[in-house]
Amino acid sequence: MKKKMSIVVPCYNEEEALPLYYEAMKKNEKKMDYVNFEYIFVNDGSKDKTLDILRELAQKDKNVRYISFSRNFGKEAAMLAGLEYSTGDFITPMDADLQDPPEVLEKMYKGIVEEGYDCVGTRRVTRKGEPPIRSFFARCFYKIINKLSSTEMVDGARDFRLMTRQMLNSILSMKEYNRYSKGLFSFVGYKTKWLEYENVERVAGKTKWSFFKLLIYAIDGIVAFSTKPLIISALIGLLFFLISFIMIIVIIVKTLAFGDPVSGWPSLVCIIFFVSGIQLFCTGIMGTYLAKTYLETKGRPIYIVKETERDNNEK
Ligand code: UDP
Ligand code: MG
Repeated sequence: MKKKMSIVVPCYNEEEALPLYYEAMKKNEKKMDYVNFEYIFVNDGSKDKTLDILRELAQKDKNVRYISFSRNFGKEAAMLAGLEYSTGDFITPMDADLQDPPEVLEKMYKGIVEEGYDCVGTRRVTRKGEPPIRSFFARCFYKIINKLSSTEMVDGARDFRLMTRQMLNSILSMKEYNRYSKGLFSFVGYKTKWLEYENVERVAGKTKWSFFKLLIYAIDGIVAFSTKPLIISALIGLLFFLISFIMIIVIIVKTLAFGDPVSGWPSLVCIIFFVSGIQLFCTGIMGTYLAKTYLETKGRPIYIVKETERDNNEK
């Protein structure tokens, strides 16, 4: 019996890229006629015609399913919804902008079926076409997070990775609200093979990530997969305590020996600024973790579905 491959495609304002994506996938489907395909498009609250395109695709192609959110919940939520709805034996998330080349699917499938891997991931080895400053910060981010976290984050790894149903079930068993997929994929373990390829630019439309959004995403990743920043802030506090202790002794001895001339207030102001800066920084770190715990305990849904292809067929 033919196996089924589920492709999960998060879409946010992708009206320009979607038709091109669908066409490219259909072409690839012909080459891979030994598997059945299932597409799960997730409309993440798009403001353009994405949903209309998806309705149309689902109507004419029985392998196309879609989920439409009540608003924009972000790529992580869209990916989770698609993965939860998928029914295939092998599953992969995939971007709608053709930055994840469909030709690679065949190699991924072989990696699992013939070579016995649980997961075949892709990583881009170049960041061609990306602003240099973004590449620079991305590199720094991977260096920092790998120092801080015991879960390995592979530089350049994309969410485009084919995995077995067993591995997907392990990922879905993690119910956390603050989802950082790159970490979750790595956390579950399993044997992963990496395919490397050169960066491809998106076919149409614009990237949804601003620098600020990426920065927040990076902080989310660190908070989700490491508690070391808390330890570091505690250590900084301890260090400052030791320094001040030594300084107090030095000052007492100096005053006893030489009297007490009033001087040195500029240095005092500098020290106050410096120490209160560090204090705010450390409180900020603690606050960030507290905020995440707060969100986690509220137990709000990660996404809200407004419509799926089933509602549409019944109409
Ligand atoms: N995306 C989404 N919700 C969002 C932002 C992005 O579903 O809030 C989807 C988007 O439609 C695309 C994928 O996530 O299919 C990757 O987004 P994009 O290409 O903008 O990111 P980049 O490739 O520049 O990192
Ligand atoms: Mg993209």
